[in-house]
Amino acid sequence: MIKVAILGSTGSIGTQALEVIAANPDIFKVQVLTAHANHRLLRQQIERFRPEMAVLTDEQAAYELLKQGVPPEVRFCRGVAGLELAASMDETDVVLNALVGFAGLAPSVACINAGRTLAIANKETLVAAGALVMELARKKQVAVVPVDSEHSAIAQCLAGEQPSAISRLLLTASGGPLRGKKTSDFAGVTLQQCLKHPNWEMGRKITIDSATLMNKGLEVIEARWLFDIDYERIDVVVHPQSIVHSMVEFCDGSVKAQMGLPDMKLPIQYALNHAERLPVAYTRMDFRQALSLTFEPPDTDAFRALPLAYAAGKQGGTYPCVMNAANEVAVQAFLDGRIRFVDLVPIVEAALTAHSGAASPELAEYIEADAWARLTAEEYVNRVGSK
Ligand code: NDP
Ligand code: MG
Repeated sequence: MIKVAILGSTGSIGTQALEVIAANPDIFKVQVLTAHANHRLLRQQIERFRPEMAVLTDEQAAYELLKQGVPPEVRFCRGVAGLELAASMDETDVVLNALVGFAGLAPSVACINAGRTLAIANKETLVAAGALVMELARKKQVAVVPVDSEHSAIAQCLAGEQPSAISRLLLTASGGPLRGKKTSDFAGVTLQQCLKHPNWEMGRKITIDSATLMNKGLEVIEARWLFDIDYERIDVVVHPQSIVHSMVEFCDGSVKAQMGLPDMKLPIQYALNHAERLPVAYTRMDFRQALSLTFEPPDTDAFRALPLAYAAGKQGGTYPCVMNAANEVAVQAFLDGRIRFVDLVPIVEAALTAHSGAASPELAEYIEADAWARLTAEEYVNRVGSK
């Protein structure tokens, strides 16, 4: 039995992970469930999966849940300390970090320190502090397993291959809801347009990141750390059908691609089941139907978040952490209707320009850089929002 701790069980990845577990009750057991504020859904999940431990990080939500009552055999904790405890329980086999944002970093570190396998959906952990996290994982001999579909695809392509034979990683991108648009089209882009992703149903933050292509920028940095490869050998290819989830080019020119219908349950179960495949009853690709797969280069003039992320990644140190924090603030402000779509990337750019970074940061310096970038980005938000 594989015991799984799910951090962020009420989110898009978290609920799909629970579907995978419910479909395989002989293989997986839920040990921990955590959420931020959605106490109603967490309560339903507790009733159904009966974990050993449950956590709510929002104090008010925790109070509401306790009022409703938690089964006595479930240990209930609240706050960020509870989350770190949840990531480092005895006997956990895999911690699935499905939190959104920088809030995922401390639990990732706690998980690795406790020697538990980390299945990482929370890409912000690796974007903000990839050097520190992967170094710690090496020291503690802990596996950091990708959940993001592109990185899972790359891991699947690399199975049985020598790292020295890799020429390039080719991350595919759907292009998001604004694919084909030019900078001059962006002025009128609405929140509703951005929230309609053509191929994937995901949480709101990543959906906005997909509209700007910042998500792909974050994924480039995520790939750099997961596969220990330099930025010159990571390319992005726009593939609107989201069937090829990513590719690896090898030294002999051969290119391996991993294909499948866009369904996050596949990479989730591959990660939770230690890279062993499980039979599933989900819909399959049907090659009796005509199928076109197309590939094109990304438009980096219109979608400036992508080159910005490469640049921040290459600068290294705390720069990607600052980029990530400023982006989180800007995306939230856009979701709240405080800024326009066209303000998103300039806010991130301005925070990066104003930053003077630490070269080999410790955890405390990442936390400091994140806090600084949030304040700085918030000032820009207030400035552009009041125009
Ligand atoms: P969601 O917003 O749907 O879910 C986020 C989860 O984290 C929820 O359980 C939420 O609780 C909890 N949470 C939010 N903020 C905090 C906080 N400050 N402290 C503790 N818990 C918090 O996100 P997604 O599932 O879409 O994404 C999760 C991660 O996976 C992201 O890093 C994303 O980039 C990545 N990812 C997602 C994909 C997808 O298909 N959704 C695909 C590939 C990667 P509550 O519900 O109570 O707010
Ligand atoms: Mg992805």
